[in-house]
Amino acid sequence: MEKLTNRAAPVNRDPITFGEKIYLPAIAKGLSITIGHIFKKKATVSYPEEKRPFSPVFRGLHILNRDEEGRERCTACGLCAVACPAEAITMEAAERKPGEEHLYREEKYAAKYEINMLRCIFCGYCEEACPKDAIYLSETIMPTNYTRASFIYKKEDLLIPDPKNKEAK
Ligand code: SF4
Ligand code: SF4
Repeated sequence: MEKLTNRAAPVNRDPITFGEKIYLPAIAKGLSITIGHIFKKKATVSYPEEKRPFSPVFRGLHILNRDEEGRERCTACGLCAVACPAEAITMEAAERKPGEEHLYREEKYAAKYEINMLRCIFCGYCEEACPKDAIYLSETIMPTNYTRASFIYKKEDLLIPDPKNKEAK
């Protein structure tokens, strides 16, 4: 029969030696490997007391950004939702009313904005698609939870705190 690959090795059918019969060399070899690992740097960390440093390109929980004056940057253009391969983003747009210029930067804003974190794959496409620098992925790990509903992040959960409110405190 024609061989599919040349990786097949013939089985060694030589009679086993005295050393192989008493297993001691094999046990000593195994122990030497184990002892050698005791003195090597550990590959594990004692999480959560100890935290592993993240890669500089780590992408964590999303944040909806504000401008320097504390106004919401998002203009509900929907580009992030279109770019999202997981279809995790939904929003509802609303028009800014006279007198709301201090709240919303553009004439249109997101009245509702939701991300389903159970769908999200943290690819960062939403951040790249946004023309207003309104959304970015932070270095915060998404907290775990027991309910599905708690993974639907609403605008209130995503919006960065208004710096003006901090100054007022
Ligand atoms: S990080 Fe990727 S998957 Fe998650 S919401 Fe943004 S575009 Fe969608
Ligand atoms: S976050 Fe950016 S891309 Fe998404 S709707 Fe708002 S302005 Fe548009």
